[in-house]
Amino acid sequence: MARRAVLAGGLAVSAVGFAGLPAGAAVRRPAAAPSISSTADWNARDALGDIEVLDSKPTMIIVHHTATPNSDDTSQAHAFELSRQIQAFHMDSNGWSDTGQNFTNSRGGHLMEGRHKSLAALQGGTQHVKGAHAGEQNSVSLGIENEGTYTEASVPDSLWDSLVELCLYMVSQYGIEPGEIYGHRDYMSTACPGDVLYARLPELRQTVGASLGSAVVQPSTWPLLRPGAQGPTVTALQVLLGARGLAVPVDGVFGEATQRAAGGVSAARAGSGPSCFASRVAEPGLFGGLAWEDVAPVLGAGAAGEAVRAVQVLLTSRGHYVPVDGVFGDRVVSVVRDFQAANGLAVSGVVDQASWQRLLS
Ligand SMILES: [Zn+2]
Repeated sequence: MARRAVLAGGLAVSAVGFAGLPAGAAVRRPAAAPSISSTADWNARDALGDIEVLDSKPTMIIVHHTATPNSDDTSQAHAFELSRQIQAFHMDSNGWSDTGQNFTNSRGGHLMEGRHKSLAALQGGTQHVKGAHAGEQNSVSLGIENEGTYTEASVPDSLWDSLVELCLYMVSQYGIEPGEIYGHRDYMSTACPGDVLYARLPELRQTVGASLGSAVVQPSTWPLLRPGAQGPTVTALQVLLGARGLAVPVDGVFGEATQRAAGGVSAARAGSGPSCFASRVAEPGLFGGLAWEDVAPVLGAGAAGEAVRAVQVLLTSRGHYVPVDGVFGDRVVSVVRDFQAANGLAVSGVVDQASWQRLLS
């Protein structure tokens, strides 16, 4: 009862801000607060040590799956048990102070606070509880663990609807851009949140944006390579690894030697390593997320070397004729500009992050 009253007050304040905007301005309608069970509700253990509460708003949401069975038990009791299991694993096996993610969503659509203090921070809309779920993004992202394994299975409507509701509320409370909803794999070398849930993120952003009357910019993201992957993206990675002095075959197949070398790059990336609950399931040989930044440098006119050759391999695979000679000459600049224009990217002739992401995808 008390929480309802607090929420109603929070929404009233938002409504004033909403009405106070100049006529014709783009407006965000405040989203209704969904019902979220607190750590006390699901009988969480106390955190070990202090919870870090930042006086800054998170700027993104990161979606995870728990990689647990796709249970048919949609009860709240089952959802609470899941929360306790995750907390126990994070504290007892990972040695963390508390649950890693900020919130948990069950297949029955029960929303729960994850790390302590996350619910109050969200309701307040000005602070962020730093979690442990996505490496370098923890201080700027809200993590949501969604119960189940969505590598192949479809997402139940009950889980989807509560995920939409929660994201809508987060975006509304913090002023997060609806395009800033990502999957765990966008930042780390993991299959989380599963191909099926990951493939629905554009729809999630769109749905949240439409509900708030906000235009949605779908983000550029890094590809995820997994054992058996083949093609020009793998060839480009192999050339890029070679540029770092890592000897791998350049055969366009993501085989063991390439996986080992790429895995070393992932492991060396600060903040990588076991993160969300899904990471307790071994995921050997994956390469993705921010580790790409460490092999794919920004390149422009006059650059030379193997990284340029990787760009040339990718352009050629897309039907743009350029010499594959490792030299960023005038012809390459011109073709890169054409590629950028054709893909709605800023036309600079420089292969920046967004251009790499588009070339590799
Ligand atoms: Zn995850």
